[in-house]
Amino acid sequence: MPSLWKGDTTNIEQILDTIILSKHFILIFCNYHKDTFGVRQGFAPATFELEAKKSISDLSDDELKGKKVLVRCDVNVPLDGKKITDDTRIRSSIPTIEYLKSKGAIVTVCSHLGRPKDGPEDKFSLGPCAERMSELLDQTVTLAPDCIGEEVAKIVGDAKEGDVIMLENTRFYKEETKNEPEFVEKLAAPFDLFVNDAFGTAHRAHASTEGVTKFLSPAVSGFLLAKELEYLDGAVSNGATPMAAIVGGSKVSSKITVLDALLDKCDKIIIGGGMVFTFLKAKGLNVGTSLVEDDFVETAKEVMAKAEKLGKEILLPSDIVVADSFSPDAETQIVAADAIPDGWMGLDNGPDTTKEQKEALSDCKTVIMNGPMGVFEFEKFNKGTFGIVDILADLTKENGAITIIGGGDSVAACEQSGRAGEMSHISTGGGASLEL
Ligand code: ATP
Repeated sequence: MPSLWKGDTTNIEQILDTIILSKHFILIFCNYHKDTFGVRQGFAPATFELEAKKSISDLSDDELKGKKVLVRCDVNVPLDGKKITDDTRIRSSIPTIEYLKSKGAIVTVCSHLGRPKDGPEDKFSLGPCAERMSELLDQTVTLAPDCIGEEVAKIVGDAKEGDVIMLENTRFYKEETKNEPEFVEKLAAPFDLFVNDAFGTAHRAHASTEGVTKFLSPAVSGFLLAKELEYLDGAVSNGATPMAAIVGGSKVSSKITVLDALLDKCDKIIIGGGMVFTFLKAKGLNVGTSLVEDDFVETAKEVMAKAEKLGKEILLPSDIVVADSFSPDAETQIVAADAIPDGWMGLDNGPDTTKEQKEALSDCKTVIMNGPMGVFEFEKFNKGTFGIVDILADLTKENGAITIIGGGDSVAACEQSGRAGEMSHISTGGGASLEL
């Protein structure tokens, strides 16, 4: 199966590795816990506990001077071999690091990069990130050969105030995503306190995001994380209506559970991407070989029933681009959503659907999108996603709507379409948000 097929429900590891709830939606929409973080944060198995001290600016000088601080950044940048093709996430992490340095802390950055399958792989080394961070900070960022162990402890132990160290990719250990206590303890061991500045992974209960908060105190948010949460919370809590959410992508089980909460907040929900077929199946329709999560067909039914009860709109595609295989060269045809032939899989929205989406969104003042409308990585299946990106960019420009794009692939799709800069807010735990 091609690696792009992220929705393969048989791959339990991948599922574990994917999210429990979509980051943007859990943080904004679900039941709020106001005490954590100082900003609202959603419930989720992945909710991580930060303490009464909310952000690094709440810490006193004494709490930082000479202290060994573990900072979870998201420097998961796109690479072409060893060349960083977009350093936004590294640049975004600089203000927190500079601040900690200025307070005399010993700063150690940790992050994941890519999805290494089975232990260390040179192509996923954080070496290029450490180099780029050295340039940006104008000082050497020492790359530790590992993220745990004696050597790391020695490097951190020998470091002076203001030094910056980067640990090697935390995902070189399977225990990272499994949040295994023994690994967490080793990861936390050399440090005095924890700063989470990785919005892109903040929703995941991994060792380096949630696990370490059990061992390091205080555990607070960095500037980037605090700023993103504040912005998104404000945009949604006080957002102008009508408000719509567009939910797509392949992580069906993680996102479908958020729809219930989204229905309370939003006037309309547009379903796209791999999410569509669990809904079509719930409506008793044939979905061919499309991505479906059978365990969530009931959930889809409940979501549709709730929408009906509340009088809210859930917009499903009326036409679909189907393919005879999951491949860039697949045979394709456009069919009605209720006429998917056996043996074919839905990989994109059809043109009528995009028109209907435009109509449905035309009066919306706030729109949040998480997850692409199709397998946009393949040219044959990118029109639904690029179509909706165009609609959102036009809505922002022409109607002054607030448009928020969240999610790694959604942001990548926006960037590929060339219209990312026209959205109100692009949120990957990275850069564009800093300019707001
Ligand atoms: P997040 O970062 O919050 O997880 P995201 O924007 O990265 O969100 P995902 O849920 O990860 O979105 O889904 C993106 C993936 O979904 C893309 O790789 C895309 O190819 C895939 N996808 C979209 N539509 C389909 C479909 N119909 N069938 C299978 N895969 C799909």
